[in-house]
Amino acid sequence: MPIRLHNTLTRRVEPFQPLHPDQVTMYLCGPTVYNYVHIGNARGPVVFDVLVRLLRRHYPKVVFARNITDVDDKINAAARNAGVPIAEITDRYAAAYREDMARLGVTAPDIEPHATAHMPQIIAMIERLIADGHAYAAEGHVLFDVSSYAEYGALSGRSTEEMIAGARVEVAPYKRNPADFVLWKPSSDDLPGWDSPWGRGRPGWHIECSAMSAAHLGETIDIHAGGVDLTFPHHENEIAQSTCAHGGAVFARWWLHNGMLTFGGRKMSKSLGNVLELHTLLDQHPPEALRLLLLKGHYRQPLDWTDEALEQSVRTLDGWYGVLRDLADVQTDEVVQPIPEAIEQALCDDLNTPIALAELSALADRARKAEGDEARKAAKSALLGAGAALGLLLQPAEEWFRQGADTVDAEQVEALIAARNEARAGKDWARADAIRDQLAAMGVSIEDGADGTRWSMAR
Ligand SMILES: [Zn+2]
Repeated sequence: MPIRLHNTLTRRVEPFQPLHPDQVTMYLCGPTVYNYVHIGNARGPVVFDVLVRLLRRHYPKVVFARNITDVDDKINAAARNAGVPIAEITDRYAAAYREDMARLGVTAPDIEPHATAHMPQIIAMIERLIADGHAYAAEGHVLFDVSSYAEYGALSGRSTEEMIAGARVEVAPYKRNPADFVLWKPSSDDLPGWDSPWGRGRPGWHIECSAMSAAHLGETIDIHAGGVDLTFPHHENEIAQSTCAHGGAVFARWWLHNGMLTFGGRKMSKSLGNVLELHTLLDQHPPEALRLLLLKGHYRQPLDWTDEALEQSVRTLDGWYGVLRDLADVQTDEVVQPIPEAIEQALCDDLNTPIALAELSALADRARKAEGDEARKAAKSALLGAGAALGLLLQPAEEWFRQGADTVDAEQVEALIAARNEARAGKDWARADAIRDQLAAMGVSIEDGADGTRWSMAR
């Protein structure tokens, strides 16, 4: 089954084929680590995690890089405000990012390049651009000369005038053209800086991704991904730098962009007070419900995030895990379940997660009704396989229902349930009810069934 992906470069869904038949190279623009990211920043990593999982099933080798931008003026400001060294800020938030991504079920990248570890490559790339007439040094800065690259604007489909207006570019005396962008800028003594042919300074943001991508994945890569808000100027500038530094070699063959999150139909912004930190949401809600909600829309469309939609995701997972809990007695044949064809087909069709999730729901309904050993086994296997393709349903069902149970002592809960069952056997209803109330006060809800009593953390 061929994979088809929308390419922003051509604005079409095209059959995907890597440059080398048995290896795929992919780069995703990672975070600038100066604070916790907001939930909107998690959409790209989650949807492209589903893509990486898909590619790994189709190709023997996938090399996936997601960078860390650890030099940036926002980082400098955050360190100054907190009165701590810059590395303390970048280490803290890079670690928080990794941890939050892991909680969302995002598989760690194969390579996590840090910008500050690539200064020789960044400087060498800038030197090549200057030597070939694509960049110029002026007043301690180095700027990319956009007039030297005729294709500039092809990715975003903008004219130079639109790009200047869109980027709110700074008109600076050292710029030949207002659209020229910074490759290198000078650092004062109190700011992080590296020695360079243009004096002590630091790189612009765009050149970091170009240099890190080439260093780890080669001059031409198969897929470059990121949020649609990065199309211009970030990705447009990456293409210009990389193509010009590599003698015209294609930089990225496929450009994938995910749509933005809206909040009750509105953009997220500090002034509207609707900025939702991923780190906080992960503490307040089951992480898997956040992941499910992020996959509910097609990745190229905007996705509206509401409290109701999040609650609905929790209920959906309650239903699916409920089915799996009822199938707990069924042993599947394999440890890793095969992916049902309908799910694979949906994902191969430009990562159509809404269709895949509808299929998953249908499989859960079928599993709920399955009767007989063979049918129940097949249904459980299909449901788990479908979940795995999306990075869902990967925890034991009991764990899903006992999230937040670290606040209770499981042994004590089991002992109380045993005592309650004893009381019920002796028809001591008052005592049985009292124990149920005691459990409820601990946040534990119980359910009596044919196979005994099972418990969950109440939500
Ligand atoms: Zn980037």
